This record gives sequence, C-alpha cells and structure tokens, in this order.
Amino acid sequence: MGSQEVSTVDWQGKHVTVAGLGVSGIPAARALHERGALVTVVNDGDDERSRAQAAELEALGVTVRLGDGATLPPSTELVVTAPGWQPDKPLFLAAAEAGVPVWGDVELAWRLRGDDGREPAPWLAVTGTNGKTTTVRMLASILEAAGLRTAAVGNIGVSLLDAVLGETEYDVLAVELSSYQLHWAPSLRAHSAAVLNLAPDHLDWHGSMEAYAADKGRVYEGNTVACVYNAADPATEDLVREADVEEGCRAIGFTLGTPGPSQLGVVDGLLVDRAFVADRQKQAQELAEVADVNPPAPHNVANALAAAALARAFGVEPAAVRDGLRAFRPDAHRIEHVADIGEVAYVDDSKATNTHATEASLAAYDSIVWIAGGLAKGATFDELVTGAAKRLRGVVLMGADRALIHEALTRHAPDVPVVDLDRTDTGAMSEAVVRAAELARPGDTVLLAPACASMDMFTNYNKRGEAFADAVRARADETA
Ligand code: ADP
Repeated sequence: MGSQEVSTVDWQGKHVTVAGLGVSGIPAARALHERGALVTVVNDGDDERSRAQAAELEALGVTVRLGDGATLPPSTELVVTAPGWQPDKPLFLAAAEAGVPVWGDVELAWRLRGDDGREPAPWLAVTGTNGKTTTVRMLASILEAAGLRTAAVGNIGVSLLDAVLGETEYDVLAVELSSYQLHWAPSLRAHSAAVLNLAPDHLDWHGSMEAYAADKGRVYEGNTVACVYNAADPATEDLVREADVEEGCRAIGFTLGTPGPSQLGVVDGLLVDRAFVADRQKQAQELAEVADVNPPAPHNVANALAAAALARAFGVEPAAVRDGLRAFRPDAHRIEHVADIGEVAYVDDSKATNTHATEASLAAYDSIVWIAGGLAKGATFDELVTGAAKRLRGVVLMGADRALIHEALTRHAPDVPVVDLDRTDTGAMSEAVVRAAELARPGDTVLLAPACASMDMFTNYNKRGEAFADAVRARADETA
C-alpha cells in the first residue's frame, strides 16, 4: 500500500511516556490523552515555565514528572520523545533494555495521520545539512501555484502534528525534516524525498558522520515515486542506493550543469527537466529561467531544482514550477540584500551558521568584504578560506572564536587585510559595518556570513542579522 498505508493503534489504556515538555511534547501529550492513552510527561527542567505548563496538562488528567527526565516510568509501553533529546540518554537506554519503542514527533504525526478517517495527505520531504527551509518554502510555493492545498511544515515552525490533526484539509504537505527527527522516525514513508547535501554537522549528537548520514538517509526509506539526490554530492546518491524503496520508485538527480537522463539541471540560463518527460533520452522540458530563482545564487538554484524535482514527481505542470519560483520570497537573514551604498551591496546571510553554508554564500559573489566570527562549534576554517581567498577584498572578524578564522586567513590568504574586532558590546556590529565599508571598493559585496553560531554575542542569528541590517541602514542614512 506504500505511503498511504494508515496504521491504527488502539490507544485506550496504553501507557505512554512523553519525553520533554515543549513545542512537540505538549501537543503530543494532549493528542495521546484525547485518544485514551495514559500519558506521563517527564522533563529534565523544573522551572517556573515548566511548572505552569505541567499544571495545564495535569488539569486534563496527564501525569507530569518535573526534574527527572532520566528514569523510565515502569509501566511504559511507548516513549514519544522531543526530537532534540540525545539518543544516549539513560531514558532511551532503559527503553531499549525493556524493549519499549521510541518515537519522535514526526513518527507520532505519521502514525496518527488519517486515524480520524480522513484521507491523509502524502508527504514530500526535504532534509540535508543546508538549504532545507528555503527548499521547502520554494516547494510549497510551487505546489500552491499548481492550485494544490498545501503547507510548509515540520522543522520549520509549523508542527507536523498540528498539520496532520488540524481541521485544514491538505492535498500534499511540504515537509522539512532534521536529522534528529529522522533518527526517531522509523516507519515514515514519504511519497518522494530529497537530501540536498551532506556536510559534517551535529556530530556530537549523532556520534559520527556515518550515523548522521544514516539518519538523513532514512528520508528515502519506502519512497513511492522519487528519491531526489544532489549529483554534485555523491554521498546523497549513495544514500539513495542504500535505501529500501517501493517498486518503481526512481532516483532523480539535480545538477547545476547539463542534466543527464533522469536529472534536472541548467542549460543556457534555463532550469530544465530531463526526468519527468515522455522520452528522457531525447527530450528535455523547460521549467523556468535561472533569473526566476530568488536570489539566483548557485546554491539557491540547486535548492530550486530540488524543489522542482519533488513537485514534478507529484505531477505538477512546468508552468506552476515557474510561477511558484517567481512568487517565492526568501526568509529573512538568508542572503538577504539589505542596501546598496555607493555601489557596494550589503548582504545579510546571518543564517550561515556553519562553514558549509558560508562556503555557498561566499561562492555567490566575485569580490567580497566578509564579516565573520562567533561560536565555531568545533569547526575548522582552512578549506573555507582556501576556497574563497581569491575573492576576498578584506575580512572583518568578531566574536569568541574569531582567532580560528584569523589563523586560517594567515595561513591561506596572507595578503587579505583583516580587521580583528576585540569587542562584544552592542556597538560591535556597527563598527564591523563601518570597517567593512572602509575596505570595500565599488562593485564589491559586504557579506555577513559568519560560519559560526551567534550566541556568544546575540540571542540568535535573527538578532545578529537585524543588528547588521540596522547598522547598514544607519550608514545609508548618513551617506544619503
Ligand atoms: P536550513 O533549513 O537547512 O538551515 P536554510 O534554507 O535556512 O537551511 O539556509 C541556511 C543557510 O544555508 C543559508 O543562509 C545559506 O547560507 C546556506 N544554504 C542554503 N542553501 C544551501 C545549499 N543548497 N548548499 C549550501 N548552503 C546553502
């Protein structure tokens, strides 16, 4: 029956332990309680907020145990966990020993979909180290342009459980999945799925690169129509080969070059499809212009091709791919053009929080004054700096681990001027912008692409991007 199979569980009287109060735990506890399960929520924290949340659940009849997320309640028949909980936690070791299954939020949503008798919407799933949110939003935009009832859901702010159990009816869902969510989703079977790229990230959580890749690869398990891979990233194609898919499911590649048969790619400034056409040996179908992709940076064109491949796998017409890409607006702080001042462009890619993302954004511009630094999370910068050295006009560094980037620049780009900002106060970003402007020449791009997390100086990457944009606008006003 493939992806439309609906599993029905009799929840009445079933002892379920929900691990973690929070964005996924609370709706999970409610949904299971409503179905007659005997729910106990366990939570590490015991602060004011969790006590208030606990009180609400207890009023419904849910048991909540605060301050101890490690011990498995003895009668537990199933654990439903928040995706971020690390697999080596004592709770999971106890569950494994007792033979108790563990589901994440995605697995729960997958199992509950359709249990109210409605026909469940198929899932088009996207994972990868970078580009997930962008690709899922592009995909939703394309599906909407095709007149389908859809939403971008999952690791993107809208919970899958809400989408699956809510009143809104969908024809298809565009689902972003993190490696954590996939780890805990053993029976998920998407209609079609894409792994955009694979670079080391979150290895402390998964334990190794192999384990991380294996969790990403789960997205392909049981696909019915297409497994979409990145032809420039052979690791993604390996995952397709290793996956156990439904009979007839196809491997579809995307490439920034000329596509081979069963691929989507780029020819003469056009996105073309050589996969979902009648004769893929001889035929290619134009989908859109590269200029329809917003912004048309190479990595973003790759995201658009992946989104197009999933939409085409679902049967969407070429014109809707074009219309959907044209209508798409990127989320904030993702290679966002803030202003042009005196023929210098200022671009905010605060979301580039790791070296793989920053590599893509540095590759998108010819001559760059690069603003970088923050928390390196164990990364090294040699490869990144070597690849970009020729295109760097100058660099402004700030944040806790800036010395690591500085050292890599000294090794691989000794002639590039570097400004090292030794301050972390609220004025630091303004100074960074001023110093970057001094280094820039007409035609250059001042690019905030930190390759690091932001929490040493800012609440999150949004705040960092806003500080940059505010500083740029203040400068634009001054020079106007
Ligand atoms: P995710 O949801 O995977 O974090 P986003 O779409 O939010 O991905 O993009 C995060 C950052 O990753 C962007 O700011 C950009 O710098 C970079 N990025 C986006 N797409 C790609 C890609 N295909 N390859 C490499 N880096 C990318």
